[in-house]
Amino acid sequence: MAVDQKQVVAALGAIATPRGVALPQAGVLSDIAVTDGKVFFSINVDAAEARAWEDVRAKADAAVRAIPGVVTALVALTAEKRPGSAPAPHTHSHGVKPAATRQQGAPADSPMGKQQAIPGIANIIAVASGKGGVGKSTTALNLALALRDLGLRVGLLDADIYGPSVPRLIGVNEKPALNADKKMIPIRQFGMPMMSIGFLVAEETAMVWRGPMVMSAIRQMLWDVVWGELDVLVVDMPPGTGDAQLTLAQQVPLRGAVIVSTPQDLALIDARRGISMFAKVDVPTLGIIENMSYFECPECGTRSDIFGHGGARHEAERLGVPFLGEIPLHISIRTASDAGMPVLESDPKGTHAAIYRAIGAQIKDRLARVPAKV
Ligand code: ADP
Repeated sequence: MAVDQKQVVAALGAIATPRGVALPQAGVLSDIAVTDGKVFFSINVDAAEARAWEDVRAKADAAVRAIPGVVTALVALTAEKRPGSAPAPHTHSHGVKPAATRQQGAPADSPMGKQQAIPGIANIIAVASGKGGVGKSTTALNLALALRDLGLRVGLLDADIYGPSVPRLIGVNEKPALNADKKMIPIRQFGMPMMSIGFLVAEETAMVWRGPMVMSAIRQMLWDVVWGELDVLVVDMPPGTGDAQLTLAQQVPLRGAVIVSTPQDLALIDARRGISMFAKVDVPTLGIIENMSYFECPECGTRSDIFGHGGARHEAERLGVPFLGEIPLHISIRTASDAGMPVLESDPKGTHAAIYRAIGAQIKDRLARVPAKV
């Protein structure tokens, strides 16, 4: 039986709110998206009220999940800060004990004051790009696998809310199961736990989310998922350097960022913006990777520098950030990822896998040297 919006509204009608009326009448609900039994909506309240509404969010979540035919629900509590009001508190709870604030002594209203460490995860690194289409997601996945090959316990979070590509890149699109505490159990593929908003909602639904909803969904994917013990969680960031990306960089307790760029000037300018965005929120850039660095002929192996070459290396030197390596533009990287088999899995002994592992080794090394702030 297909679930529809009316059933969702009816289920929410039984939930009381701090405003003295039932949830559908409180004037706080976003549009309710229902696709194939997946339900998504947000409860939008002022930041000052957020704590009082967390219980309502949890009840709404449970009520929706109890509707026959609902396979998954994502109920986000978004707290919008009015100019001059108190800083937004964390809106997730689910029994997660607040961990130590990452930056000891950070003022409560600084961006860093909002960050919480995630229990069990030693390092979170962002893979970012100034613009889309540079191969950020492909690089994030192969890099995660390279770090796994180097003996680390690694997870992957696809936070590219505008175009979640991890389900396609790993050839899996299943909804995560819930454990007894209603926490999501990440999908395991290639020996790594992975989460993507693409597992939860249809891609078109993800596209229309507003900034606060994006952040709330990402918080859920960080804190309401049973990640287990991880040495590194690789976060595939949404491309670009706009407000959504800045908020994410502020609120996720990142140890560092890796910037993916192509050699073209334009992409490099965007990469520069990426570096300064992370610098703004005090996240060190672990380095730049030049993707599609040169064309490698699949027949003869000849290398052609079709975009010019060395741009990212020079840029990294100029900006004083490490240059991590060059990944060629090669048909096997594309066909492997598009078939749900990243090149580290399809050809683990090949030259491309070796390049990713060499980059992974530098990141592992840098993580050991970046001072822990937890
Ligand atoms: P982004 O996350 O930056 O939007 P993707 O990782 O989705 O980019 O990559 C865009 C396209 O480019 C995909 O079809 C992918 O397979 C391909 N691609 C990425 N890196 C390479 C590479 N080094 N060689 C060949 N194709 C690549």
